[in-house]
Formats: sequence, C-alpha cells, structure tokens
Amino acid sequence: MEEKKRKPDIMSMYPDELRKFIEDMGEKKFRADQLFSWISKGASIDEMSNLPKSLRDMLKAETEYRMPKVAEKHVSGIDGTIKYLMELTDGECIESVFMRYEHGNTLCVSSQAGCAMGCRFCASTLKGRVRNLTASEILGQVLCAQRDTGERVDGIVMMGIGEPLDNYDNVIRFLKLVSDPAGLCIGLRHISVSTCGIVPGINALAESGLPVTLSVSLHASDDTARSELMPVNRKWCIAELLSACNGYFEKTGRRISFEYTLIAGRNDGENDAVKLAGVIKKYMKCPVHVNLILLNEVRETGLASSGRNNAKKFAEVLGSCGVNATVRRRLGSDIDASCGQLRLRHNK
Ligand code: SAH
Repeated sequence: MEEKKRKPDIMSMYPDELRKFIEDMGEKKFRADQLFSWISKGASIDEMSNLPKSLRDMLKAETEYRMPKVAEKHVSGIDGTIKYLMELTDGECIESVFMRYEHGNTLCVSSQAGCAMGCRFCASTLKGRVRNLTASEILGQVLCAQRDTGERVDGIVMMGIGEPLDNYDNVIRFLKLVSDPAGLCIGLRHISVSTCGIVPGINALAESGLPVTLSVSLHASDDTARSELMPVNRKWCIAELLSACNGYFEKTGRRISFEYTLIAGRNDGENDAVKLAGVIKKYMKCPVHVNLILLNEVRETGLASSGRNNAKKFAEVLGSCGVNATVRRRLGSDIDASCGQLRLRHNK
C-alpha cells in the first residue's frame, strides 16, 4: 500500500530544523525563531501576527500543524484536578491530567495511543497499542492544557497512556523540545519518565544526558509475581532491571523512583513489604524512593485495591527496613478514572 505523504510537522521540529525549513521556503531565518516562539505558546497560525501573511498562508497550506482537541474535560470538585480526553487528528483519543501542587502545576501526559505492555492491572493496555504519538502530539498536550487553564505547566510526568520507552525517539524529541530555553523551557529536572522496565531504553536514556527523573514501575518483589503482573518482566527480570537503574544513577546522579501499586491479596501484605525492602537493599547501590499507589480498580481486570490504612502500614514497614516510601496522595478522587479508562469508555 502506498503511504500517504505527510506534510512537514513543524511542531515536532527543533529550532535549527525549523530554520532550515523556513530558509528552504525562501524566507528569512529569523522568521523560524518567531514561529518557534508562537508554536511554544500553542498559537494558531492566524494568531502569529508578526509573520507576513504570505508566510502564514504557506504554513497553512504546506505544513501539518494541529493542536489536540479537548474531547472531554472532567474537573475535580475537591482539588481542581482536570482530566482531559484529547482527540488527535486521526480521531485517536488520549488522556492528560492537570494537577495543582504547592510547588507548581504538573501535567501527566500520554506517549502512545494504547499500550502493548499488557500489565494485568492497567486499563491502557486492554485493547493493545494502536500507534506511537509523535513528539508534537505529546507536546500538544502541554500546550493545550496551558491554553485551556490559562496556567503554566511547571512539571511533567510521563505516566499517562503508553510506555514512553517503547516510543523512545519521539519521547526524546519531546523532552528536548519542551525543555528548550526558547520554547516552554520546562526544566528536565522537573520531568519524570515512567517505565514498566524496558532495560535497553533505560540504558539509552542514561546515555542521552537528559537529567530527567526515572520512575520505574516495580509492583512486585520477586520474578514469579512480577512476571504474572507485568509480562515485560519475562524479558528483563528484576535483577537486570535494578542493575539498569543503578547504571542510570551512575550516569545522571538522579535518585531513582519506584512505583508500587498495592493490589489486595497480591502484593500488599507485611511480608511483601519486608521482601520489597530486601530486594531494594540487595540490588540498589543508589538512593531510591518508593511511591506507593492505591490501585485504581479497572472492572475488566478483576483486581481490587488495598485500603489506605494498609498502604500506610506498608510504608511504615518499608521505613523500618530503611527504605524511603510515601503513599501517593490521590488527586481528583471524584473524577477518578485511572489512566486509560476514559479512552476505553470513549472507544466503546
Ligand atoms: N508505561 C509506563 C507509564 C504509564 S503508567 C509505566 O508502566 O510506568 C503510570 C503508572 O501507573 C505505572 O506505575 C503503572 O503501573 C500505574 N498504573 C497503571 N494502571 C494502574 C491502575 N489501574 N491503578 C494504579 N496504578 C496503575
């Protein structure tokens, strides 16, 4: 089948690529910098008032430039957290969540439409992966949320739909674009990349020199249990995963963060906490922090959440074994639909 020729995606271009593109169009180089600055504000082409009309017409005709559309918006009455269902140009929908913390606003972004990883508890993966998002589609979520709220996004967590390290090149491009000083200028130190444990991706990220926080979804403390919950563990076991985490710290100096979702009767007992602490102490040669998450129940999985009191107890046991842990505050509990659930309902 002949592939439909795509127009150049200007929102995915680095400033130097945009300069070359603009020059090839017969325009002055400085126009590219004006354009990059407008794109970073999420402006429409009509709003780019300091660009000549001829250039704007050309951009409209010759390039791909579309923001995601807000298809659904759910605002928490408790803490103002906003959950967006955003629609992309081909009709695929993804989710982004805008959260207000004391230290600033954080946006949780998606990196793929669907997910191929097959984690047992997760809604995003139930229908598999449809496609990777482009860098501009990841960036578009940030621009769209800023425009919609009128507030600045100060930090980003890549914890929405998809596995970021399964879409490595586009994610790296996104990280460079969103942190560009001439653009949104969101500090890489305020960005977390969360992975289910793709070891070559972790190694590559360590080599990339981008000082983002690495968040690793652990969820179990032995290989049998982890492989059952997370098929990716059959490819890279816990020892290999934690060794890659040590490597990440060696390269970046960044503390590793582990996610551990508490599932009733599966991984949430006191003995599980002791075992988890044991594994961390055995393998990890750098400072770590464990984030305990209460499972968002996804009907299709049949798994149940552990109670908050149990989570506190689990954190205490970890603490008494010398492992830093906190129970993640649950923002937007009244608009609760854990990642992937809005998309799932929308697609039905
Ligand atoms: N693919 C990446 C990022 C997306 S998920 C990863 O696996 O890390 C972000 C976090 O939410 C992960 O720790 C994931 O395991 C967790 N998660 C997924 N479904 C969940 C659910 N139903 N309840 C609680 N946490 C969930």
